[in-house]
Amino acid sequence: MCLFMRNCVIIGGGPAGLAAGIYLSRAKVDTVLFEKNVIGGQVLWTDKIENYPGFIDGVDGYTLINNMKLQAERFGLEIKMEGVNTLEKLSGGEGFIVATGKQRAETRAIIYSAGAVPQKMGIPGENEFTGHGVSYCATCDGAFNKGKDVLVVGGGDSALEEALFLTRFAQKVTIIHRRDKFRGTGILQEHVFKNTKIKVIWDTVPVEIKGDKKVESMVIKNVKTQEVNQVAAAAVFVFVGTLPQSELVRDLVDRDERGYVITNNDMSSRTQGLYVCGDVRSKLLKQIATACGEAATAASAVTKYLDEHKW
Ligand code: NAP
Repeated sequence: MCLFMRNCVIIGGGPAGLAAGIYLSRAKVDTVLFEKNVIGGQVLWTDKIENYPGFIDGVDGYTLINNMKLQAERFGLEIKMEGVNTLEKLSGGEGFIVATGKQRAETRAIIYSAGAVPQKMGIPGENEFTGHGVSYCATCDGAFNKGKDVLVVGGGDSALEEALFLTRFAQKVTIIHRRDKFRGTGILQEHVFKNTKIKVIWDTVPVEIKGDKKVESMVIKNVKTQEVNQVAAAAVFVFVGTLPQSELVRDLVDRDERGYVITNNDMSSRTQGLYVCGDVRSKLLKQIATACGEAATAASAVTKYLDEHKW
């Protein structure tokens, strides 16, 4: 397995990783970015982003990510489509060794921006019907539901945004939310309440997904009255939050009770040379704009750290 040396390794190619890559490459820091799945992360599955500054009419996830990638590559960022399997501190010195299935890289600094993945509901039928009507991505699977009735579970920004997107295809979109108030932003709530294709069932939790080969219905329970019902639907779209991908760095960082990484203001962790930014980080607001801001801070802190050590 070949070993190569870089001054900085970025792990994760979502907006945070790409923004860090733009800043580092532009500062002429010798950097490689590893991504295990697809460049873009969760943003890639977003149909329309309305709150990332600079786009008057909004922008779709693919365009935004592709622009970020091209911008980073223009400054010379090296991107490798490989998952990092291990990350170890170098014994007796400053720096790290990261290993993918194909190669090992020695590096002085790391920016860890591995993001988060969709949380599951954990109810019977969910795993069984994933890919057969249960989905965590409306942009990917919405179009299979032309003229059908679909369910959306959750009450945050993702659930509201994706429910609105699904109305392009579905005949009816029913949002199942466990409280009597949405968590999502006011403007999204406004759009949802105005849309005649969307119905909301409040104070209700999902209990079980049923079907033969595909989703046919979901059993739901009202948490106030305990009443149980079965709602027919061709698909269930799940947006009940995210889980941080922080396992790789678990022994090198502090994490909050949900597993998100706690950092200092300059995005440094408790391990010298290891910086963390984006959705994997413990913070108040998970947005593309905050991910990019944190990445700029992390990249600038890494540049300073390398300079101070004359690396
Ligand atoms: P979120 O904000 O954590 O919302 C998750 C929703 O799912 C909440 O309404 C929660 O209910 C509900 N929920 C959680 N566990 C559940 C369970 N087991 N069964 C049923 N319902 C459950 O997650 P998100 O919407 O994926 O957003 C994640 C982050 O990304 C947020 O910070 C969000 O603001 C951001 N984001 C922003 C945008 C945007 O700005 N355009 C778009 C997407 C996401 P409760 O409300 O009762 O807790």
